[in-house]
Amino acid sequence: MANSKSVLKIYNFLRRRKEVFRPIKRGRVGFYACGPTVYNYAHIGNLRTYIFEDILRRTLEYAGYRVKHVMNITDIDDKIIAGARSAKKNIDDFSAPYKTAFFGDVKKINILPAWKYPEASGHIPEMVKIAKRLLQKKIAYFAKDGIYFDISKFKSYGRLANPKPGNRKNFAIWKRAKKSEPSWKSPFGPGRPGWHLECSAMSMKYLGAGFDIHAGGVDLLFPHHENEVAQSEGATGKKFVKYFVEGEHLLVNGKKMSKSLGNIFTLRDLERRGFNPLALRYLMLSAHYRSQLNFTWESLRAAEHSLERLYEFVRTLKTLPRSSKPGFKSAQKPGFFPRGKVLTFQKAIFNDLNTPKALAVVHAVMNEYYKNKEKFAARAVLELFYDFDRVLGLGLAGVSQKHPPPGILKLLKEREGARKLGDFKKADKIREKLKKMGWQVNDTGQDSRLV
Ligand code: AMP
Ligand code: ZN
Repeated sequence: MANSKSVLKIYNFLRRRKEVFRPIKRGRVGFYACGPTVYNYAHIGNLRTYIFEDILRRTLEYAGYRVKHVMNITDIDDKIIAGARSAKKNIDDFSAPYKTAFFGDVKKINILPAWKYPEASGHIPEMVKIAKRLLQKKIAYFAKDGIYFDISKFKSYGRLANPKPGNRKNFAIWKRAKKSEPSWKSPFGPGRPGWHLECSAMSMKYLGAGFDIHAGGVDLLFPHHENEVAQSEGATGKKFVKYFVEGEHLLVNGKKMSKSLGNIFTLRDLERRGFNPLALRYLMLSAHYRSQLNFTWESLRAAEHSLERLYEFVRTLKTLPRSSKPGFKSAQKPGFFPRGKVLTFQKAIFNDLNTPKALAVVHAVMNEYYKNKEKFAARAVLELFYDFDRVLGLGLAGVSQKHPPPGILKLLKEREGARKLGDFKKADKIREKLKKMGWQVNDTGQDSRLV
């Protein structure tokens, strides 16, 4: 556990530099992250952003803060409306399975649940309130097709993303209803909110008019976050967000992974190929969140291999008997090797979430232990790893120490054979059978393990 003196530095896009994190209220953090638009399954690019946000939240908690984490669900959107229309469904029925899939995905990759997941469709009155206020202040105006934000009335427009002059445009905060499109009642007549308005309304409702951290992928910096700042500060007259933290993209062959380019993979695709979802998490941690990361199957396989090494290590430590060697408490004392490693780990993670360095520390401890086993209490090292895992979230505490009997191993082998032949039906059947017998199968790129 980090102490209150730990200095956490984070890159703030508002000033484009790393800054010491100082919350508005002592010991507490209000943290808003832009969530999924539920018109399709999340791709692993989206998941990269959610993993980075999870690491940020875990790091804040590791540093001793109480974090209120809010992530919105965008359930009103052009793509949802278009998708629902072609599926001949109403938008709620159309988006429901994607919402469920999103929660399933984030659970599989050990993303801690947010405090609240507000949905746009449930916050129309809050959005109307902001629109009204902006109209009253004459920062917004009526046009033929809705209500627009007048950027010339907001002096600091462009401060966050510094967009080119040609990209600085008035934008819709409310769209008048069109025939055949879903709409909501409002004092301005039926219509629907502009995309940016939902995040202003929901973040301020749950975290207050001024809060600490707003996160998302870098593509959201402009226009989304810029326009959120304009609407929110325009309406309240208060500073909206103290730190804007944005994660870089996941690429495929050098191009951003995105639905429109048709170069996406989902967690389902990875699982179908036999990967453990946590291998994806490990892969994401192996790159710094502000660097682009090019996805390849080889890199995923390598990540899974490293993760398996880590699991094997933890399994070994778990099976060793407790000894009289120093426990975790004494492991924190100077002179005992994990103590130094704890500090390097904290230094890395508190330095703008340097997860690659943090993972390097984990592997360094592992290697050191293997070299000097007799010097260290297995339990102390294990507890050190559990402590690291509060940030990394790789599921180390769940690694099983049981040794499977031969019958179980035979079934596992049989299943592996089926997978290799592409007989996933049989593989799934055996997985279920093993589960009933109390053994959870963990698929890796190369083989299957029991955990
Ligand atoms: P969306 O569901 O499109 O609203 O996106 C959800 C989140 O995923 C946003 O924070 C985006 O910035 C982020 N995102 C979209 N594409 C990528 C990508 N290729 N790599 C990383 N993050 C992405
Ligand atoms: Zn948003």
